Amino acid sequence: MAGDNPPPEPSLPLALARAARRRCPRCGGGGLFRRWIEMADDCPTCKLHFERVAGYWLGAIAVNFTATAAAFLVLLVGWTVLAWPDVPWTWLLVVGVAVTIAAPIAFHPYSRLLWVALERRFSAHPHRGA
Ligand SMILES: [Zn+2]
Repeated sequence: MAGDNPPPEPSLPLALARAARRRCPRCGGGGLFRRWIEMADDCPTCKLHFERVAGYWLGAIAVNFTATAAAFLVLLVGWTVLAWPDVPWTWLLVVGVAVTIAAPIAFHPYSRLLWVALERRFSAHPHRGA
């Protein structure tokens, strides 16, 4: 549940900037993650409850998948272009697999908070603003 006196909704750029620093998109408060993967249910500062409906984090998974796919495409296209015509396909495969395993883990907290920022900005749900 939201706090008694929630802060005003920030602009989308400010909310995204806060999310990119692993801070609450609504208030900018920190301490949202106990570990890299384990996120608090509520913001310790403004008491925003993040998972407001079942399945809420599906959007964060989509954000994370998009970032991972982008990282893989940059690697694939960049390496291929730079090394052409002698592309080391075996190394590209090994590094590509490593990137597609590591990127979702590395991007996990950011994908969640970016999703919170985007969802709060674009949702027509009456929850918005609370
Ligand atoms: Zn907050």
